[in-house]
Amino acid sequence: MSALQNDAVTGRRPLGVMAALPQELGNLIEVMRAESGVRTITHGSRDYHVGTVYGAPCVVTLARIGKVAAAATVSALIHAFEVDAVVFTGVAGGVGREVRIGDVVVADTLMQHDLDASPLFPRFEVPLLGIARFVADRSLAAQLAAAAERFIAEEGAALAQRFAIQVPQMHRGLIISGDQFVASAAAVETLRTALPDALAVEMEGAAIAQVCHEYGVPCAIVRTVSDTADAHAPASFATFLTELAGTYSNGILTRFLQARA
Ligand code: SAH
Repeated sequence: MSALQNDAVTGRRPLGVMAALPQELGNLIEVMRAESGVRTITHGSRDYHVGTVYGAPCVVTLARIGKVAAAATVSALIHAFEVDAVVFTGVAGGVGREVRIGDVVVADTLMQHDLDASPLFPRFEVPLLGIARFVADRSLAAQLAAAAERFIAEEGAALAQRFAIQVPQMHRGLIISGDQFVASAAAVETLRTALPDALAVEMEGAAIAQVCHEYGVPCAIVRTVSDTADAHAPASFATFLTELAGTYSNGILTRFLQARA
């Protein structure tokens, strides 16, 4: 497939916007449809929605769940759609002791907690790349964090009251990814012991960060905490996904994209 998307009007390369599940995108595609119309291109069993948000060209897509799905999707964004940066939004399990349901975590670094080629390579290190922790783009992560801070300041108290959660807090630091839905006190404790600075666990972020690192494309990841990766996680995840994931994504992405416009 040929390179697609230097925006005809602005000449700018698009921003890639990803989530795993539709609820995690909020109404971004509708916003794009209202502003510019949306062209949907199917590639590698996924739909890529091309348009503009606040005048900025974007390609919005759903990766589905897991590291392979995420890596395949972000590769297509880079190769077929020539995005100049990637932002991922979604939910995650809280791992840090201070991290509560409804909090927001923006990654400074990301790693794959289930990658272990020891004793040939150090545990967690990506073999032959020599890296365990991938660094999110500083400027993009700072913009995402600023948008999340504004969202929390403007809407956090009302959300807390309405959904009986604590007033949301912002965290910056390590997000860990693996091909498991973590849903037991024992499993989350094992992760805390192995990686004491981990704030949240999910299933895509570090794969995206690795591909972006290898292609030199800036990326940033924001996660809202839907559960605490323990026995309550399946129910908490499902409720949060239905009731709140879209509100957080809309609130954060709108402010992020508006500030970039
Ligand atoms: N049964 C669910 C599967 C969801 S997997 C379904 O039918 O849709 C969980 C998704 O949310 C993944 O995309 C992952 O990135 C994130 N996530 C949220 N909580 C998580 C947790 N406790 N462990 C791992 N990933 C989690």
